[in-house]
Amino acid sequence: MIIVLDKLIDEKAIDDLVDFIVSKGCSFTKTKSDNRSVLLITENQSMLSYLELEAFPIVEKIVRIENEYQKVSSKNNPIKIVVKDTIIGRDSFSFIAGPCTIEDYQQLKDTADFIKSKGLKFLRGGAFKLRTSPYSFPGLGIKGIEYMKRVCEETGLISVSEIICVEHIDLMSQNIDILQVGTRNMHNYRLLSRLGKIKNPIILKRGMASTIEEWLLAAEHIINSGNPNVILCERGIRTFENYTRNTLDLSAIPAVKKLSNLPIIIDPSHSTGKREMIKSMSWAAIAAGADGLIIEVHPSPNKAICDSRQTINYQMLDSILEPLNSLLTLWNKN
Ligand code: PEP
Ligand code: MN
Repeated sequence: MIIVLDKLIDEKAIDDLVDFIVSKGCSFTKTKSDNRSVLLITENQSMLSYLELEAFPIVEKIVRIENEYQKVSSKNNPIKIVVKDTIIGRDSFSFIAGPCTIEDYQQLKDTADFIKSKGLKFLRGGAFKLRTSPYSFPGLGIKGIEYMKRVCEETGLISVSEIICVEHIDLMSQNIDILQVGTRNMHNYRLLSRLGKIKNPIILKRGMASTIEEWLLAAEHIINSGNPNVILCERGIRTFENYTRNTLDLSAIPAVKKLSNLPIIIDPSHSTGKREMIKSMSWAAIAAGADGLIIEVHPSPNKAICDSRQTINYQMLDSILEPLNSLLTLWNKN
């Protein structure tokens, strides 16, 4: 990081700034350029935030050389996650499917049996739902977690379910294989750092109004607290367009690949909100290099309690899967 100071030489103000920088554990060298003092931060620059530095009136300009996120940066080796002998990462493809919300044992078991018959390995299903309206179905709660655990024990599938608060960490980490942080919780930094204390892989959905940098910094919160097993999930962002539920930002795939070492999966269900768009967006995501998909599927989508408009049936899932192997050869994935 380079901090360019005001042309006016105010040694007292420079000393105050230097004291602040040293108090953050940073090292620096001071030099002059074009008659200005310039501080080059040589160590621990991630301890310094723009906002704090800009509060010093002598700071004229800050140039960051390194990104603020260091642990999720692409300068590190790509993250490879192993769950029940299945690998999630840049060289593989993780196809996650299941209902938006767990409704009863039979609905989940039927879906799981179908998913398994297609050779897929991951079952999603929400037990605790964060709903926009307080009058919408909030999920089956603990009963839903019990169904998920039972169905995954019976089928050998890997379970994926959303964690909505810190209080559920023990319950979720002990009963569910992969925990999902929903879009509404991407900024819940207390939850993120607590998830850094457990070992379960975490699917971190992109905040619906978050930049890629904010999303990577959210992932950094988890990894910085000790859990490197993070999977990013692009689930659509808010734009002026309202034909679709959100706007699926497929360009996040190559962006994340350039910036980060984390796997990235795509959620065509919450991004489009329309079941007839799931196939094309799924194929487009694979073509763009996604490391996986997470799709809402239900035995009878029209009867789904939650998100039925975007939920596909088995036949539609089948048609998405048909060319999967040949699409995956585009990126040498398996
Ligand atoms: C979900 O996957 O069930 C969900 C609620 O997604 P999001 O947080 O992306 O809205
Ligand atoms: Mn849903």
